[in-house]
Amino acid sequence: MPPQNRLTVDEIRRWVGELPLRRGRIYHKQGRLVYLFRDGDTLRAAVRGNAAEPYRVWVRLVDGQIAAAQCTCPVGAGGHCKHTAAVLLAWLHSPENFRPMPKAAEALKDASAEELLALIERMLARHPDLVELLPNTGHHGTGHQGTGHPGTGHHGTGHLGIT
Ligand SMILES: [Zn+2]
Repeated sequence: MPPQNRLTVDEIRRWVGELPLRRGRIYHKQGRLVYLFRDGDTLRAAVRGNAAEPYRVWVRLVDGQIAAAQCTCPVGAGGHCKHTAAVLLAWLHSPENFRPMPKAAEALKDASAEELLALIERMLARHPDLVELLPNTGHHGTGHQGTGHPGTGHHGTGHLGIT
């Protein structure tokens, strides 16, 4: 049962602004939404923009109000963009299209280590940016790197050193 949908166009406009709202309408009509998930009070979606990779959007809704949002597009900080608008319009008009976010622990509870590794490889092939989540990315096969710092900090971990 989806949560009660109290979102309004005015609320979307308040958050994204008039022009992104208009562009978001076009994106919504063009069917640029790649996937739509509902994860508690958060909507998660991907939207095909002008880049090769779809932009990823999340929006947190509290009582029909937009509480926070984010999009991976160049102007997507805070989710004040047309992609976020398209996702919110999709939620406004057809919330039934948002599937409950599957829980990995439930979906994979019987998977073997080999199956999990194969799955991770497929995930990385599709979304190479996720390689950031792996420990010791950058160089491989160098063994110890002497990073004695606990936590992430700012110790030269800025960009991926992929060559
Ligand atoms: Zn965006």
